[in-house]
Amino acid sequence: MRWQGERQSDEVEDRRDDGGGGMGGGGGGGGLPIGGRGIGLGGIAVALIASWLLGVNPMTVIGLLSGGGEAAGPVAAQHAPATAKAPRNDEMTQFVRTVLASTEDVWAAQFQAQNAQYRKPVLVLFTGQTRTACGNGEAAMGPFYCPGDSKVYIDLAFYDTLRRQLGAPGDFAQAYVIAHEVGHHVQHLMGISDKVDQMRGRVSKTQANALSVRLELQADCFAGIWAHDANQRRNILESGDLEEALNAASRIGDDALQQQSQGRVVPESFTHGSSAQRVAWFRRGMDSGQINQCNTFEAKQL
Ligand SMILES: [Zn+2]
Repeated sequence: MRWQGERQSDEVEDRRDDGGGGMGGGGGGGGLPIGGRGIGLGGIAVALIASWLLGVNPMTVIGLLSGGGEAAGPVAAQHAPATAKAPRNDEMTQFVRTVLASTEDVWAAQFQAQNAQYRKPVLVLFTGQTRTACGNGEAAMGPFYCPGDSKVYIDLAFYDTLRRQLGAPGDFAQAYVIAHEVGHHVQHLMGISDKVDQMRGRVSKTQANALSVRLELQADCFAGIWAHDANQRRNILESGDLEEALNAASRIGDDALQQQSQGRVVPESFTHGSSAQRVAWFRRGMDSGQINQCNTFEAKQL
């Protein structure tokens, strides 16, 4: 992905020095509370609550936490120095700022085309855990968007998880994660998430999950629109980039995550969509660049 030298957003709130969970005792040592201790009920509840907002299925989060496999070590190890001395504007921070700025430009233009005004979200960088208008945010939940404060939250250690544990390396995969969360912000601005929230309260668990899937797939489609427009404006795509994003979309499909964490797939419990669906909807946004192509709620077939 070509991004260096492009505009960087100021809408980044850096909480990495705040201590968060990173400095907490108990042998965690880093963002992801892994290692000797198991996950408490609180952790499970948080993961479940988070399930439909987030880019990562809570079962996977729990699987990753309790698994404590070989990949877990380096995540924590890499993380520790970062909390001790948070890099203010290292390359990764610049990358995040640049991708965020790019989403701002794309969505401002998209909204303007509909005679509406885009309100930028704030992107919060944190380590371990942080306060949000949606409750306590934990790194273990993966990146997420909180409509209550219009902020995207990300612990950059997630990118290690994405690369090492979920098998989705590459800068464009990382950009896709941000674009997906910004997609949730766009849904919030459009009133879509509110509507879905109301509907979810009135239907069965299975139906509520199905609504979550449509919401998530639409965020993927919006991420695709960002990729389409950003490339048209600034020619950001390099060879292999599209594959990186599609691979990431596929790796964080519910079926892939469930298979990985519990060894079986339970479609009724899907909250984000299957790998094939996530890839398809990202592609649809990417190929068309049209918001009206992202109406997952009226699609007969996902
Ligand atoms: Zn999401």
